[in-house]
Amino acid sequence: MTKQDIKAVKHILSTKKKIVIVPHKNPDGDAIGSTLGLFHYLLKSNNHKVHVIVPNDYPFFLKWIPGNDTILKHDSQTKACDDLINDADIIFTLDFNAFHRTGNMESVLAKSNAIKIMIDHHQAPDDYAQYMFSDVSMSSTCQMIYHFIDMLGDTNLIDSDIATCLYVGIMTDTGSFRFSSTTSTTHTIIAKLIEKGANNTAIHNNIYDTNSYARLQLLGCALTNLRVVPESRTAYITLSQDELQKYDYKKGDTEGIVNYGLSLDGVVLAAIFIEDRNEGIIKISLRSKGNFSVNEMSRAHFEGGGHTNAAGGKSYLSLEKTVEKFISILPSYNKALNDE
Ligand code: 5GP
Ligand code: MN
Repeated sequence: MTKQDIKAVKHILSTKKKIVIVPHKNPDGDAIGSTLGLFHYLLKSNNHKVHVIVPNDYPFFLKWIPGNDTILKHDSQTKACDDLINDADIIFTLDFNAFHRTGNMESVLAKSNAIKIMIDHHQAPDDYAQYMFSDVSMSSTCQMIYHFIDMLGDTNLIDSDIATCLYVGIMTDTGSFRFSSTTSTTHTIIAKLIEKGANNTAIHNNIYDTNSYARLQLLGCALTNLRVVPESRTAYITLSQDELQKYDYKKGDTEGIVNYGLSLDGVVLAAIFIEDRNEGIIKISLRSKGNFSVNEMSRAHFEGGGHTNAAGGKSYLSLEKTVEKFISILPSYNKALNDE
């Protein structure tokens, strides 16, 4: 975002506007944290008429974040959400890079005449926004919201609600400050958010230490299913719909499980394949260490994308066939995987 862009956005926001904020489908901590953080800021800065509209439901461990109760869900409140989108002056699109990432919201967003402002850190963004703050080096969209508020000269408006929201997304998208996208600037911002009232202990507890017994049993099942392909320095996990049902699966229960594969000594590529009979797909999450790009792997083979070290994708084959396909493409990556 250029200085001129910031000046223009500041001018647009200087009068009261109808604003909609949208994250990607299956929102994660960064998606919910950034949309609600921006929501609180826009309310506080000029009492704009603001709504956060998510494409669909999100994990239970995010449902305590300040402003959670105001969130509208497009899949269950479609008409009300479409009306707000059609009536909006401004639509902020956060934590995604192409309208199709919002699932069924794609067409109503694409048709909207509102000013679009994209704030996002994914690779290869589409060109739909009048104002674009796109930076793949950023740890999280939440960090970018902090920078955005800073560029508008408003960090004095950051209160404990905004600080809490932004802390959540920075924490979850950096794997609790361990991924290489975590910089000294990230830590400086985190320090400021704590000063503004983010309770780091409570946030970590709410996100990571609220497991149900069934969720831990599901994790046990996933770890039993873990397989290693040593020559490709790869580990993968499968979870069938029957297994999910057996352990009383709830949205969010599989979040983070893929990282156990990557925690194996010597492994640089990890995958999880999760059967979703409702959607008729196998949902794929890929994680890597070093320079191996799972974004490229997912774009090439699994209709997805994301970041160098974390990407998502899908397959319309059966769970078994999807795993067969994954194993069959690994040899072509062996050189890159063994160079890590
Ligand atoms: P997850 O495996 O947690 O679903 O996704 C990992 C990362 O990749 C997240 O940042 C997510 O937003 C991104 N991602 C997941 N699926 C897709 C996709 O289909 N396309 C793109 N561009 N990014 C994705
Ligand atoms: Mn993100």
